[in-house]
Amino acid sequence: MTDLRLFNSLTRQLEPFQPIHPGEARVYSCGPTVYNYQHIGNMRAYVFADTLGRVLKFKGYDLKHIINITDVGHLTSDADAGDDKMEKAAALSGQTAWDIAKFYTAEFKRDLNWLNVTEPAKWTVATDYVPAMIEYAKSIADKHCYELDSGLYFDVSTVPEYGRLARAATEEGEGRIDEVGGKRHQADFAIWRKTPVGETRQMEWDSPWGKGAPGWHLECSVMSAAELGMPFDIHTGGIDHREIHHPNEIAQNQAHECSAHTGASIWMHNNFLIDRGGKMSKSAGEFLRLQLLVGRGYHPLAYRLMCLQAHYRSELEFSWEGLGAALVRLKRMVMGVAQLRAQAKPAAAPGDRFASFIARFSDAVSDDLNTAIALTVLEEVVALKKVDSGEKLAVIAAMDAVLGFGLMTLDRHDLRLRPIAAELTEQHIEASIAFRKELRAQQNYPALDRNREDLTAQGVEVMDGDPLGWDWKLEA
Ligand code: AMP
Ligand code: ZN
Repeated sequence: MTDLRLFNSLTRQLEPFQPIHPGEARVYSCGPTVYNYQHIGNMRAYVFADTLGRVLKFKGYDLKHIINITDVGHLTSDADAGDDKMEKAAALSGQTAWDIAKFYTAEFKRDLNWLNVTEPAKWTVATDYVPAMIEYAKSIADKHCYELDSGLYFDVSTVPEYGRLARAATEEGEGRIDEVGGKRHQADFAIWRKTPVGETRQMEWDSPWGKGAPGWHLECSVMSAAELGMPFDIHTGGIDHREIHHPNEIAQNQAHECSAHTGASIWMHNNFLIDRGGKMSKSAGEFLRLQLLVGRGYHPLAYRLMCLQAHYRSELEFSWEGLGAALVRLKRMVMGVAQLRAQAKPAAAPGDRFASFIARFSDAVSDDLNTAIALTVLEEVVALKKVDSGEKLAVIAAMDAVLGFGLMTLDRHDLRLRPIAAELTEQHIEASIAFRKELRAQQNYPALDRNREDLTAQGVEVMDGDPLGWDWKLEA
């Protein structure tokens, strides 16, 4: 099999994956801040991390994947300014920060489930690690930090090549943080934020620097080291993290390990999902979250497919048309595979006839996760004629395990979601469709036309002769 090559943001190059512990792949993904629902852009980051994990397993590695839950410490600005997002959400809603974290963590996990994102080996919840964070901060405080009234700050000049990941020195000063007075360097950042005198926070802990809360960057360094050991193999996150959050994690890792190593061999970043309609902003009323897609009758796995059609390093533009097209593409695969499942069971091993398909699939995913090509190879296999059905099914199962649609159990009925705006029941529509079949048998075309008009008026688009056999669809 071809070697797995991944794009390392550190070197801006493709590099062969060489695990630190033979046969194992240890991966840490920055998780969500649970002060609100996730938007589907956020979910792209987890579909990407999940695909990476699935590819690593396909390539034979024993995967240990950690995703964290940020339930404290992330400020409204990535610079050290603004409120803690959790405290702010609590103040606005009248609920406790703890309840808010619990609620949105559950919602996030529900979205992951819808998208077939595999459970990580462990969820690390930031507030569970605060004592470890304090110990970690103590161990680097003397050599690398200084105290201001507002907190304990990391001095970025104390580590080698600060900001190399962001290319901060060469690319128009990205990665700079400059909002707190008294800092030695613009890019210095808080690792402990003291609660201002006279205030109390819902989430605060005692520390050698006074009552307060950990900085967001500190959390990921501590949790990744605690669960995966230092250094580990791959660290993932969205491309925004390449500029501030990950350079700061690297600085802490280097300080704590007394080493120039960044802490992870490969740093990988997914590009953004963008929406020209501005519906990705959580502060702008209705925003693009998975439930909105579901509410309009689009199965979340159509969104997964939409993500996989693009390369994870490319920007992806969201549109409802694009999502609709992805749903049709998914339906075709689901129907092809369901038919096959009705005829055969997966064979123990596929024959030679499939070797070139498997090789092309493996080459594609090994080339920095080229899922767009892998998808077309899977579709070619689904469309193959005059081959052994059991062998074909086995190959589909293996490819599907990497792309993560669940084709071995998914049926077309699962994909048909009812838009919340629709008032008709499915039974009513199915009965109408059966009635249309009778009318057609009687060649009663005027009645057929009237029936179609009735259904259209009620928001049902009748698709007589639809090649997918879909019959009808509710308009969103
Ligand atoms: P947050 O909850 O803000 O920490 O974000 C969770 C994850 O989503 C991080 O890895 C972000 O980098 C990523 N992310 C945020 N916005 C987008 C977007 N529009 N497209 C893709 N990933 C995003
Ligand atoms: Zn992180």
